[in-house]
Parts: sequence; structure tokens; C-alpha cells
Amino acid sequence: MYSIRLTEDEIPKKWYNIAADLPVEFPAYDQTEEGKQLENLPKIFSKGVLEQELSTERYIKIPKEVREAYKQMGRPTPLVRAKALEDHLDTPAKIFYKREDTSPTGSHKLNTAIAQAYYAKQDGIERLTTETGAGQWGTALSLACNLMDMDCTVYMVKVSFNQKPYRKTIMQLYNGEVLASPTTQTEFGRKVLAENPDHPGTLGVAISEAIEDALNDEKVYYSLGSVLNHVMLHQTVIGQETQKQLEIAGETPDVMVACVGGGSNFAGAVFPFMKDQLDEKINCKFIAAEPSHCPTLTQGDYCYDFGDTAGLTPLIKMYTMGHDYIPPSDHAGGLRYHGMSPLVALLVHEGLVEPRAVEQNDIFKSGVTFARTEGIVPAPETCHAIKVGIDEALECKKTGEEKTIVVNFSGHGLLDLKGYDDYLAGKLD
Ligand SMILES: *Cc1c(COP(=O)(O)O)cnc(C)c1O
Repeated sequence: MYSIRLTEDEIPKKWYNIAADLPVEFPAYDQTEEGKQLENLPKIFSKGVLEQELSTERYIKIPKEVREAYKQMGRPTPLVRAKALEDHLDTPAKIFYKREDTSPTGSHKLNTAIAQAYYAKQDGIERLTTETGAGQWGTALSLACNLMDMDCTVYMVKVSFNQKPYRKTIMQLYNGEVLASPTTQTEFGRKVLAENPDHPGTLGVAISEAIEDALNDEKVYYSLGSVLNHVMLHQTVIGQETQKQLEIAGETPDVMVACVGGGSNFAGAVFPFMKDQLDEKINCKFIAAEPSHCPTLTQGDYCYDFGDTAGLTPLIKMYTMGHDYIPPSDHAGGLRYHGMSPLVALLVHEGLVEPRAVEQNDIFKSGVTFARTEGIVPAPETCHAIKVGIDEALECKKTGEEKTIVVNFSGHGLLDLKGYDDYLAGKLD
């Protein structure tokens, strides 16, 4: 059996909240002395997600409407044995990948977009604003808003906006409004452009613009695609499904890998298994794969910092490159973020998750190998996880170990072909 599929009824009924099981206390959000960052939260987030953000309940019920939307959007997703890749690598390891690319928008992002749009709608909100890097999050939120009959404004990082013109088209097709950030439409955007007219844009700047927009209108909320606890929570449908699927396959994981930008697909895939690990039911190595171009976990400091560049978010204890860091241009736009989920950061800091930085040329090489064996073109972000998965499988070839390796396949790369183009032409540094 290659593809292990669950029925629609087997979609999890609850999200798993790792806050209930952390080995150390979660470092509370903070604000600056003159700042209003914490007071502003209820102006930009729904009651539903704010409650989840601070909850320590282990399981949180998924609303019926959200579960229905998950079904309509193709959940549960398959878990696939990468037999062709294993044969190509000639490894004794078994490699599985969880296919979040099968969502209509092509990534895991819809899992939280649907939930966030649902809770905003419950509060009577008319429009959501957001940032997007590679464009995957803006795409997912545009669709989710349209499904819930709300408008969506997407501040898209300018380098990605220029690299990926079709991303804009697909967001507009889903009824989203797309602006290249920094824009001239917000005070902060104008300030950034005044200082540097050629600013390439960053996720930090785009988040500031989207928050400013939401703060200026009480019918508007802001929605974040990663980093925050409620986003990690919503993504745990991935790992819970994978648990059932591995059980059907008769496997327990020895290694789990996912890429990290803000940490959400990693958290979603891994946190349910982290509970098993803490309960000593499994003995698994968890690896977070990040780009060497933006090495937040391997080179950043573990300290309090803002999630955005203007300092509108609360202070969050996480690994950070600094909130005004401008990462070098990289084709994995979804991983170009200065900070990290505070939950993922805490687990790295406690030694429960191993971070690993990988090079851009190597990740595209792995992506091409994957496409030529398994047939699916991975997103450049996903290639980071595949690269580490392949390295682990090759290590097994040396040692003869038959490890079970699970890679979270966060999304497909069919709208990211520019990066592959440059790789195949030998134009990447
Ligand atoms: C957004 C995105 C990522 C990075 O975000 P996380 O929150 O770290 O998951 C990774 N892969 C894909 C395909 C994405 O769209």
C-alpha cells in the first residue's frame, strides 16, 4: 500500500493544545512601557482565537462548521510511502510523507485560514487583513474569507510579488485584494519607503501594515498565518491524522521532519507526536529544517522581540534575528521570517527539537529528486524538509538502520517554478 487514506469521519474532532503538556512554563506575552500592544489584541483578533491563544486545555473542540469546511476542502489528506524515492536512494529506511499539498490552495495554510475566518465571522467582522510571503497564506485566507462571505486584503512582500505574478492572480481569483508591501496606503509603509524607496519588503513590514489597517476600522480584524499559538493549534489536524495513518501502516516514527518559517506546519505535524514522546510512548527525533539564508533557530537569539517590524505586536519570547532584519532574497519566501513560533522555540530551547539549516542549492536538488521519483513538485519551503529527510535516509544507508522517517509535505511548488528555473539554469548562489 502506497497511500494511506482516512474517511471524512476520521477528521479529528478536537485540536491538540501542547500548552497543556509543556515541560516548562510558557513565557507570557509582554508589551513595552509606552506600548498598547496587549490592549490592542482584542481590536484585531476574534474572541475565539484569543481564548485559544492563552488556553491550557489539552483538547479544544473543532466547531462543526469548521470540520465541514475541512471536509469540503479535501481533508483528511493522504499519508504516502515514498517507495520510489527509497528505491532511488537505495536506503533501508522507510520514508512517509503527509500530503498537505492536496488542499485546493496547495498547502497546509487552509487548516487555520478556515478556522480564523470562521471565528471572525462569529464576531460580525466584514474584512480580514493579512501579510503573505510566498503567497500561500494570502491564497488560503482569500479563499477562506470568500467561503465565509468576508473581504480579504493581503499585504504581499514586494520581492515575492515580483517573483511570483501568478500568486497575485490566484488570490484575486479567490476575491482577495493584493498589495505589494511596503505600500503607500499605510503610515508605516510610507515611513519605510521614505527611508528606503527600494525596500524589498519583509514579512515583518507586511504584518505591521496589515495590523495598522485593521486597527483603523472596527469591522476589520487582522489574521496571522503562523507563529501564534492558535495557529499551531489549528494545524494539529495534520499530526493527529498522521498518527492514525501510521497506526494503520503498523509503524511508529523514528524521525519526523518539517520545514519552519513561523513554525506552523512543523507544529501541526509534530505536536501530537511530541505528546507521545513526553509520555514515553515513542522515541523519535524531531527535526526543524530552516534555510541557511534566514537561520532563525540555528543562529538567532532566544529572547523577547516583536513579531513585526513596527512593534505593533506584543513582545514574544522566541528565537529571532531581530525585528528589523532583512533576510537575503530567497526562493523559499515562506521561510523568510525573522522570528519563530514561541512554542516551537521553547521546544528547541529545551532540546526536544533539533534545528537544522540547509542551503538553497541543496534543497532544490532534493526537490528535483523528489519530483523525478514521487512525481510531485514540492514547494521550495517543503524542499527543506525533503532535503533533511533524504539526508536521514542516506545516514540509514550507512548504518543499515531501518528507520521510519516521516516528512511533512507542506505544499506543492507549481506556482513557484521561477526558483526551479533558476536552479536548473545554474543561476542560484
Ligand atoms: C507558509 C509555508 C511554510 C512556512 O510556514 P510555517 O508556518 O513554518 O509552516 C512552509 N511550507 C509551505 C508550503 C508554506 O506555504
